[in-house]
Amino acid sequence: MDVYLSMFGPVAHGESPDTTAQKLSESGANTLLFFTSLYHSYRLLQPRYPQRAIYSLETDRLFFPPDPAFYKESPLKPEMSRDFPDSRYFSRLIDACHARKISFSALVPMCAGDRLAPAFPELTVENLYGAHDRMFFCYNNPGVRAYRFAMIRDLLTHFPVDRLTLDKIPQTMLEQYSQTAIFDPPLRTVGSFCFCDSCRKAARKHDLDLDEVKARAREIAARSLHIPQHVITAQGEKLTGDTEIPLLLLEEPLLYRMLKFRMDTATELVREVRSIAAELRPGIPLQVAFVPPSHPGHDMTAPRAWLTVQSYKLYAPVVDEILAVVHFGPDVVRFETERAVAAVEGKTRVISSMRLYGATRPEEVPVLAEQALAGGSQGVSFLGYDVTTDELLAALGSWARNRRRG
Ligand SMILES: [Zn+2]
Repeated sequence: MDVYLSMFGPVAHGESPDTTAQKLSESGANTLLFFTSLYHSYRLLQPRYPQRAIYSLETDRLFFPPDPAFYKESPLKPEMSRDFPDSRYFSRLIDACHARKISFSALVPMCAGDRLAPAFPELTVENLYGAHDRMFFCYNNPGVRAYRFAMIRDLLTHFPVDRLTLDKIPQTMLEQYSQTAIFDPPLRTVGSFCFCDSCRKAARKHDLDLDEVKARAREIAARSLHIPQHVITAQGEKLTGDTEIPLLLLEEPLLYRMLKFRMDTATELVREVRSIAAELRPGIPLQVAFVPPSHPGHDMTAPRAWLTVQSYKLYAPVVDEILAVVHFGPDVVRFETERAVAAVEGKTRVISSMRLYGATRPEEVPVLAEQALAGGSQGVSFLGYDVTTDELLAALGSWARNRRRG
């Protein structure tokens, strides 16, 4: 049975690669999911690393030594971590994992980067008002594709990684709450679309006129903006759900076609990654990390699957595995796993990725794992090795050993 543990990196502070691999093994893990860079400077609490107990991740800096030759065609140039410029650490960690029969998955964030995005507005999502996003790149932009494709070629050419995981595959740029007020459901829908030149060009091939979509999107947005903010705010939690949106899409076929166009081009991006990976490393499994089908995602943008164009069903034929990232309690894990497994209809593997930090109690670890398996998950995944506690790692290890003993 697969047990994944993830690690933010850039290093396990103060721990040798061999010690890390040994501890992963003791925790029952047979796969390490390693973030090769982060799109946001999350501030982490790392109780197991007393020298670095409070640590902010570098943004858009690579935790492996990039080979500049791969990025000649890319408008974005790779930069290595400045914090721990041990260029051999990444290779040594892979080797240490392999020595203990732990497979190594390299995670690449695809369409987000909140250090690079503001510096290269021409590569980012452009909303219905022509404003550039400061975190999300447009996946239809050739420069964005060139950068990430180069990164994947670089990784697969120079390092013996066993799997590739894509994160932040097209994701909405619009969260549930702005800094000052709620985005109501129609506003959240039309506000998540990109109208940049690359999308405009791609849409023509899909017989979709983005000027027409933008004009209608603005009319719909205007209805939301017309309602006083204090009135919308007073609705509170009720407006964070999607109740109005199915009706909106039925009544506005143009918006439905826009969403479909976004889904089609997003899966096309993944298909292209798949062919690059297959060419360099035939048979290498391609994984993607998705928000749950029903609940909003746990991170700061609280994305939901269908607005982030993360349809489990549509991606099932183009990836080998979907990590359903459910950082909630056991009931939510069970519910979302069932939903995800049902959606893919056996066309790909689903593994539930759960929370081994924060609110998760040691006694809850086996319950989470069992609920994932009961829901049809083909293994379990936990985030993450470098932010958890010894207690939680021990709970996972003991569950995994018991499970494997049957
Ligand atoms: Zn675009």
